[in-house]
Amino acid sequence: MAKIHELSEALSNQIAAGEVIERPASVVKELVENAIDAHATQIDIRIVKAGLDTIQVTDNGDGIEQDDVDTAFKRHATSKIHDRNDLFRVRSLGFRGEALASIASVADVTLETSTGEVGTAVHIKGGDILDQHLEAVRKGTALTVRDLFYNTPARLKYVKSYQTELAHIVDIVNRLAMGHPQIAFTLKNEHGVQLKTAGTGDLQQTIAGIYGVSVAQKLLPVHGETPDFELDGYVSLPELTRASRQYISLLINGRYVKNTQLNKAIIAGYGSKLMVGRYPVVILNLQMDPLLVDVNVHPTKREVRLSKEADLAKLIQATIRTKLAQQNLIPDALRNQ
Ligand code: ADP
Ligand code: MG
Repeated sequence: MAKIHELSEALSNQIAAGEVIERPASVVKELVENAIDAHATQIDIRIVKAGLDTIQVTDNGDGIEQDDVDTAFKRHATSKIHDRNDLFRVRSLGFRGEALASIASVADVTLETSTGEVGTAVHIKGGDILDQHLEAVRKGTALTVRDLFYNTPARLKYVKSYQTELAHIVDIVNRLAMGHPQIAFTLKNEHGVQLKTAGTGDLQQTIAGIYGVSVAQKLLPVHGETPDFELDGYVSLPELTRASRQYISLLINGRYVKNTQLNKAIIAGYGSKLMVGRYPVVILNLQMDPLLVDVNVHPTKREVRLSKEADLAKLIQATIRTKLAQQNLIPDALRNQ
């Protein structure tokens, strides 16, 4: 008798969720990235109990067509790529079509969405659609995720304290907000507003909203380009340092990524200006042809593979070094004027 069988859709989604949805912050990341891909200019995030009770992300983006709502929750269902060629030219943050299916398999999810005409509301729990009806909602999408990991007790146990989970959420929203200064973000929890950015497109102002005005005042704007890359952002004066690398944010085509080589290039740009164990505050938005970035390396897309990483590292190091060298030539009295 045959022993091998295909797993049910619900179970395979739950297995995928194990990779994509590690903790409440992963849900926030996926939902905010979807809102960004939908061209939202305002993204409001509301969380209760560090996201374990409720995560709600509301955007004013494109919305989802009524006929697409069911498909959106299917695994590997996406509107963002069509064929193999698209996979190498991904401009959107999403493309794997896994997030909604994964989230809906481990939580109680309500989607309210409208493309501007009639709106749709769906309630889906543990992967099963419980209710779907038409509803008048304004253009955009609101996803509400309740009781995360209610049916995956092992994952729930792995989740850390509310404080730690909240810190992870604030961290990812901060970085996405700095990568998208043209979008107004709010993050609220039961204790009040945790983050609010104006969405004016001014990165320094966005940074001031996140790290505070006194930090933002000690930042220098940087710009660099080669035929392959364009780099824009802010780097701190050597006098403003932190005890961890946490305050370095690299965004590639709007995607927050971790990259050891590029981090090293940033530190190298400071040369001997940093004390051992101290790190600068740096926000770099890097733009490049998507053909140069392989984003299909890891399910969470946190790590990417760059085909000209050494060239990019050189550009980063040189841009920062030149900026800081120029700064040294300016007398203290004239700085920051
Ligand atoms: P992916 O982002 O990789 O395409 P998701 O599972 O995150 O996969 O989303 C599935 C699809 O649902 C998206 O391709 C998009 O068409 C639609 N979608 C999800 N969230 C939103 C949103 N906030 N606004 C508009 N469309 C959305
Ligand atoms: Mg997505």
